[in-house]
Amino acid sequence: MEQKKILITGVAGFLGSHLADRFIKEGYIVYGMDNLITGDMANIAHLMPLKDFIFYHHDVSKYVHIPGDLDYILHFASPASPIDYLKMPIQTMKVGSLGTLHLLGLAKAKKARMLIASTSEVYGDPLVNPQPEEYWGNVNPIGPRGVYDEAKRFMEALTMAYHTFHKVETRIVRIFNTYGPRMRVNDGRALPAFFSQAIENKDITVFGDGNQTRSFCYVDDLVEGIYMLLHSDYAYPVNIGNPEEITILQAAEEVLDMVKGTKSKIIHKGLPQDDPKVRRPNITKAKEILGWEPKFSRSEGFKITYEYFLKTLKK
Ligand code: UDP
Repeated sequence: MEQKKILITGVAGFLGSHLADRFIKEGYIVYGMDNLITGDMANIAHLMPLKDFIFYHHDVSKYVHIPGDLDYILHFASPASPIDYLKMPIQTMKVGSLGTLHLLGLAKAKKARMLIASTSEVYGDPLVNPQPEEYWGNVNPIGPRGVYDEAKRFMEALTMAYHTFHKVETRIVRIFNTYGPRMRVNDGRALPAFFSQAIENKDITVFGDGNQTRSFCYVDDLVEGIYMLLHSDYAYPVNIGNPEEITILQAAEEVLDMVKGTKSKIIHKGLPQDDPKVRRPNITKAKEILGWEPKFSRSEGFKITYEYFLKTLKK
């Protein structure tokens, strides 16, 4: 049987690189694309020598060309952490809009199936908890997070338009907070911050009172959900995330408990503007349509992640 070909954008990022690993393992030819503004070649160094992995250093906000035929596209390029999209607001909007447009055009030309990485941020600071896919969200378009949230909402709208108007086969995953090895130590997100602070005996910076909630999904579970969604025939958005909701303060305490002998203490800092107060996926659709649910407990996932940060910080 001929090998399937898949293009993964954002391949040098946290999720992109784990997806590339999975598709290589499944026997695909993987075209990986990244402009490296937040991605890191270290995440794909082990893939570079493989004959089935072809890397393109390219910005998808510009015209995208891939020679020959293509079966699938996964669009995972975007700054994704709040401090990144605050620093790079225009690139964030371009990759979600122009980048998505170019890739949908490519999918149409190649008759490829395209899956886009959407986000729980489409629900904004939600007034409904947990969030089902039917919830339209509560987003401030002109706030600091608006560049990311609205780019992703535009991306979903454009993808549905290509699906209905051009009959392109599309899939939309709404990704909730995901963690694991290859997150950047200093990407500003809660878990990398807490682990690195605890390992280095620095203050653990909990923003606000820490009563805001998140639901943390281990990366292998997310990759499995995306793999299943890509191969399903469901074109509407599907939440993939772990429904176990905890407060950020509790997350900080669990990290402190895990990092034996740390001298770190929790301190509180100002809560960023428009920081969602609650977040938890309703995963009924993923369960019923894909037969997917997360398998990793938080303690298992945290342990693997802790070991990764320990190793990375010692380098
Ligand atoms: N947060 C925190 N300390 C940090 C980084 C983040 O208390 O050093 C909080 C942040 O305000 C938010 C939650 O942790 O309420 C999750 O933030 P993150 O940046 O990981 O992702 P988000 O879910 O907000 O996109």
